[in-house]
Amino acid sequence: MRHLQGRVEVITGPMFSGKTEELIRRLRRAMIARQKVQVFKPSLDKRYAEEAVASHAGMAFEAVPLEHIGQIWEHLDDDTTVVGLDEAQFFSPEVTAVVQRLAERGIRVIIAGLDMDFRGEPFGPMPALLAQADRVDKLQAICVVCGFPATRSQRLIDGQPARYDDPVVIVGASEMYEARCREHHEVPGYPA
Ligand code: ADP
Repeated sequence: MRHLQGRVEVITGPMFSGKTEELIRRLRRAMIARQKVQVFKPSLDKRYAEEAVASHAGMAFEAVPLEHIGQIWEHLDDDTTVVGLDEAQFFSPEVTAVVQRLAERGIRVIIAGLDMDFRGEPFGPMPALLAQADRVDKLQAICVVCGFPATRSQRLIDGQPARYDDPVVIVGASEMYEARCREHHEVPGYPA
């Protein structure tokens, strides 16, 4: 059954805040409502499974990896009524026009993505997607330092806070991320 009106929902927040869990929850419920669901994600996200949307707690949903958001039109089925986009921060700026077109077609678009990068700065197309959304849910994780709500993603390189200008890929270094609150989020070298 096609929706009478399309709509755009964005689920955002830092790493470990449950964005993917919430995306999967909404998609499961849409399937119960007999909607035709398709999920896409940028192909550069290789975490856990090549063709699945996977949460940190291990839940998964099949997803089509796209090298470019424009490829969505080759994969979109005529009878699809709900489209999920995960890791949306990694899509190019054209994602906003694609989302607009999907909603105009009457499709419910559910987007999950990081609002900020490890520096605490807006991440890729997310600011524009947040602005165009009909509904936004900003989730919080738990700060691993103090246990209060966390809104930031802390990047650690060899156990130390990553510097503001550290490259995105550092060969040979062990890299990890933690959820942290504003107070415990550290970005050495942040421009004054
Ligand atoms: P996101 O997509 O936002 O990165 P996920 O949906 O993949 O989040 O994972 C959320 C799950 O991660 C939580 O339900 C919890 O089980 C786990 N988790 C691990 N560390 C934390 C943390 N610091 N704060 C909250 N949840 C955490």
